[in-house]
Amino acid sequence: MQLFFHDVGLKGANADFPKTVFGNVAVSDIVEHCPIHLQTEVENKLLAEFPDGWCNVWGVPDGAKSVIRQLKVDDVMLLIKTTGGDGDMPALCHVKGFWKEQLLELSNFLWGSSHFPYVFFFKTQHIDLTWTQFKKDVQYMPNFRPSGNVYRVKSERLDHFGGSDGYVCHLLQDTYSTGNVGRYELRENTPEQEYAEGERQVREASYFKRNAKLVKDAKAKFGFICQICDFDFESVYGKELGSGFIECHHKNPLHEKDNNYSSTLDDVCMVCSNCHRMLHRTKPAMKPEELKERLQKKPYN
Ligand SMILES: [Zn+2]
Ligand SMILES: [Zn+2]
Repeated sequence: MQLFFHDVGLKGANADFPKTVFGNVAVSDIVEHCPIHLQTEVENKLLAEFPDGWCNVWGVPDGAKSVIRQLKVDDVMLLIKTTGGDGDMPALCHVKGFWKEQLLELSNFLWGSSHFPYVFFFKTQHIDLTWTQFKKDVQYMPNFRPSGNVYRVKSERLDHFGGSDGYVCHLLQDTYSTGNVGRYELRENTPEQEYAEGERQVREASYFKRNAKLVKDAKAKFGFICQICDFDFESVYGKELGSGFIECHHKNPLHEKDNNYSSTLDDVCMVCSNCHRMLHRTKPAMKPEELKERLQKKPYN
């Protein structure tokens, strides 16, 4: 596997990533805008790779011809949004389809210009990578500037990661999208686990029942909007049903506390039912700040 990167730049990234890197494109639209002699081949290949009929797409300019012609299916392309500041390389493209000829009409259809005729197809994987970090990882000089070009990274530069494959694994492990929960252990969705989860809810609920004043004070202080995702029951379910509803979550594991443990407002937070379940999906329960951070890292936000 070979690793490539394309310095797209902020302007192009802002304009076009939402269309085809973070937004999906229908395979049928792609096929329709390919040259006739390629249509059957493209359709068969893409539908085999993307059975749901959707994929992500990127194209590079004619000037990148000599580099991009080395690109093969199963190679990986990283897209640089910006090299300003620490930089941002948010998208990893594991190439599933690439034809070495110019797809001018497709480029025009997707991005409103025929300037990106070397087009490849993938499902975007979101990664947390800065340009600064990437330069360190691949042992480029700190002042290296890609200035809009497409590059191939020599595999030797990634020997310390176990080559390009090792590096790509490393990138994917560090990201939100792979569901890596770090030091947390993810509970499985088995009946046993659900039973344990039910027990937890009862324990937490009964703790709050015995400490009704704490809940009352918490609601008065924090209000009825989820402190993690800002969900507001009243605005979604209407005044009659939704008003005054929120769940109280205890940030410290109650089972480690004796019954007389007296909590303060610092020990609790108000969360919607979805966020509450997600907090308890890990063992130990995830910290609310961490869940919030994960939500913010989500694509499109
Ligand atoms: Zn929430
Ligand atoms: Zn809770």
